[in-house]
Amino acid sequence: MATMQSICVFSGSNFGVRESYARSAEALGRDIARRGWRLVYGGSQVGLMGVVADAALGQGGEVVGVIPEALMNKELGHHGLSELHVVASMHERKQMMSELSDGVVALPGGMGTLEELCEMLTWAQLGFHTKACGILNVDGYYDQLMAFFDHALKEEYVRPEHRGILLSDSQPAALLDAMRVYTPPAVEKWITRESS
Ligand code: AMP
Repeated sequence: MATMQSICVFSGSNFGVRESYARSAEALGRDIARRGWRLVYGGSQVGLMGVVADAALGQGGEVVGVIPEALMNKELGHHGLSELHVVASMHERKQMMSELSDGVVALPGGMGTLEELCEMLTWAQLGFHTKACGILNVDGYYDQLMAFFDHALKEEYVRPEHRGILLSDSQPAALLDAMRVYTPPAVEKWITRESS
């Protein structure tokens, strides 16, 4: 179990159709700040990204953004953060967000959110990091993704221990509590078969 002081949040740069998505982003940002944890995120002011950042800032929390120059130049950067790192590329951003955090949460989002989450899961499977990875499954938004990972497990592309890396809850407080006590699996990524 690692000490949790800094949480990275990946989230949609749009709001999505349901009000519950933004309400959960707000609740997550508030809860992270109230625990005295730092929020690390993509540094933008748009969509759920802006909502989670503003909610943490509203509670007096520390919020660190990491944004690539190209997005900063589109004037998407949030100007009220505790710190904003402007980096050269999306790759550099993901690396820095990971280095600055002890765990990651995905809120509802689109392809960008999924890509960021899956990279963290991939690195976790390979043992490159031992951070807790969680999905805030608001109103069942991620049910199909969870079903897909169950399918990948059944078809033996994912080990049971690695399927368990991805924590999930519909409530921010319960998810953060589970992440705080998460213990990473100690197995190799590769599934070996008996030769026939
Ligand atoms: P998406 O889920 O496709 O909206 O993408 C959101 C994720 O991709 C965020 O976690 C960001 O890291 C990144 N991203 C996508 N669009 C933006 C944007 N306009 N400003 C900053 N980051 C973005």
